[in-house]
Amino acid sequence: MRIFRDFLVAGSGIAGLTYAIKVAEHGQVALITKDELEESATRYAQGGIAAVMAKDDSYDLHVLDTLTAGRGLCKEDVVRRIIKDGPASVRELIDLGTRFTRSSEKKYHLSREGGHSKDRILHAGDLTGWEIERALVESVRSNPNIEIFTHHMAIDLITKAQLDATVEPGSDADEALGLYVLEESSGEVKTFLGKTILLATGGAGKAYIYTSNPDTATGDGVAMAYRAGAKMANMEFFQFHPTCLFHPRAKSFLISETVRGEGGILRLANGDTFMEAYHPLGCLAPRDVVARAIDHEMKKSGDECVYLDVTHIEGYRSRERFPHIYQTCLSFGFDMTKEPIPVVPAAHYMCGGVAVNIDGQASIHRLFASGEVCNSGLHGANRLASNSLLEGLVLSKHAAAKAVEQAKNSGSIEKLHQQIPDWDSGKAVDSDELVVVSHNWDEVRRLMWNYVGIVRTNKRLYRAQRRIEQLLDEIKEYYWSFNITRDTLELRNIAVTAQLIIQGALLRKESRGLHFNLDYPEADDKNYAKDTVLQDRTKRLITQKGLRPVNHEQL
Ligand SMILES: Cc1cc2nc3c(=O)[nH]c(=O)nc-3n(C[C@H](O)[C@H](O)[C@H](O)COP(=O)(O)OP(=O)(O)OC[C@H]3O[C@@H](n4cnc5c(N)ncnc54)[C@H](O)[C@@H]3O)c2cc1C
Repeated sequence: MRIFRDFLVAGSGIAGLTYAIKVAEHGQVALITKDELEESATRYAQGGIAAVMAKDDSYDLHVLDTLTAGRGLCKEDVVRRIIKDGPASVRELIDLGTRFTRSSEKKYHLSREGGHSKDRILHAGDLTGWEIERALVESVRSNPNIEIFTHHMAIDLITKAQLDATVEPGSDADEALGLYVLEESSGEVKTFLGKTILLATGGAGKAYIYTSNPDTATGDGVAMAYRAGAKMANMEFFQFHPTCLFHPRAKSFLISETVRGEGGILRLANGDTFMEAYHPLGCLAPRDVVARAIDHEMKKSGDECVYLDVTHIEGYRSRERFPHIYQTCLSFGFDMTKEPIPVVPAAHYMCGGVAVNIDGQASIHRLFASGEVCNSGLHGANRLASNSLLEGLVLSKHAAAKAVEQAKNSGSIEKLHQQIPDWDSGKAVDSDELVVVSHNWDEVRRLMWNYVGIVRTNKRLYRAQRRIEQLLDEIKEYYWSFNITRDTLELRNIAVTAQLIIQGALLRKESRGLHFNLDYPEADDKNYAKDTVLQDRTKRLITQKGLRPVNHEQL
């Protein structure tokens, strides 16, 4: 099946939905999303969205806080523009129906998080993301110009370089033309064609065995864009949240940092405290210091987790202050008022991604990326808390304006669309191989956790690189012989994303922000105060007969 719309959007978190609403004022939109419409990291965001709303706050202060967190790698012009557009963009969200918590009839309640010098976090209790997603989804559902394709997974980008041997992939002459998309229920791969394409597919927390991210976060947009030859930036910077509930069924439940803020104490299995050995602020040390300390203690003792203890705080206070956390822990059999909660650090936020400018434009013409999948230069080497929802919101507005402009000048794109072949649907499933798929999933995630996690060394990184390359070969083999499924496609994407994180980490021979390598424990401003850019310019497309020759050496 071939589907043409003016604008193609992959992903339905804050970035995809905001963009879809904006471009729908100018044309027909296909909103493609691989799960239910609401399923996204956005809906699980707890803390809130940062914006300068208070009289005693200023753009300069928010900019300064962001630059400080970013350790020299933020792009200041991008930071300024996103922060300056924050309040107006937040007001648009409110006009759409988002109900943020108020402190009085006239004022919104603003909270403060680590690294912010002022109260500037708008929130909806501790369910901010859920409330934002609800309002955006309602707006999208009632928009006649937006057609929603749920349980449709974008597989690969279709670009001009794949049709025309004279065009270098990812060069200025290259253009994005469409997407091959798998409909999960039927197994059919549809050809979506558009005048512009937005990747808003979110992050890649699923590359690690412990993550706060939902199952959708498998790095699909990064892998698709990389395979198409687009530039990637700063993949080595992955943020780890210090405390996720450790329980086989509680796979992504985050224990907010406010629990430590309110007096929670981290302990080892034998009850000993340890944070005072790592930082003068003890349990209130910055997020990355706490995550590193827990990781170190776990590796030293071989224990599977550490414990967060609030039993010394009066029970009613804990229940009132953290009702959602209290209830969720209780549902897993832990009464936090009576016993310490088992916790582990968890992969939380991908700072790197598809390199884009302030208009969300990637290095391939007509290709845009926004939200966690992109690297705009806002976060640099470390993300300031609550700046990510802000980035998805503001950047998508800029991207929409630019995409509308480009769609008006789409020239001979229809001719190119006519040359695009339909998907060649491969061969039958080998059920034995499907067992291998689940083992490979597990192996990639453990490999990343053990060797490319919070604390890195050259030896561990090289070991991970060797194994991931073998795994990519194995995955490639059965990718060729399988009927593709969401599971196998996600595995391929997570392995490609893992490879990019490893490559980025090996290239950065220093420690900065979220990247910590014991072999180079200091920052090296002279040589590394710059982005790590990765680009694959081999000419290939994974699946089609009739397109350019495939390079079987790499995925
Ligand atoms: C538990 C948790 C708490 C957080 N708290 C905060 C916070 O308080 N403040 C803050 O600013 N940030 C927070 N973050 C980070 C923030 O939520 C995310 O960075 C942000 O929501 C990302 O938005 P997005 O639109 O880019 O991606 P997402 O919201 O993740 O949406 C991605 C979408 O793409 C779809 N998709 C993925 N691959 C494909 C494909 N191949 N084809 C089609 N569709 C696809 C997914 O199904 C999903 O709909 C938190 C994150 C988590 C996990």
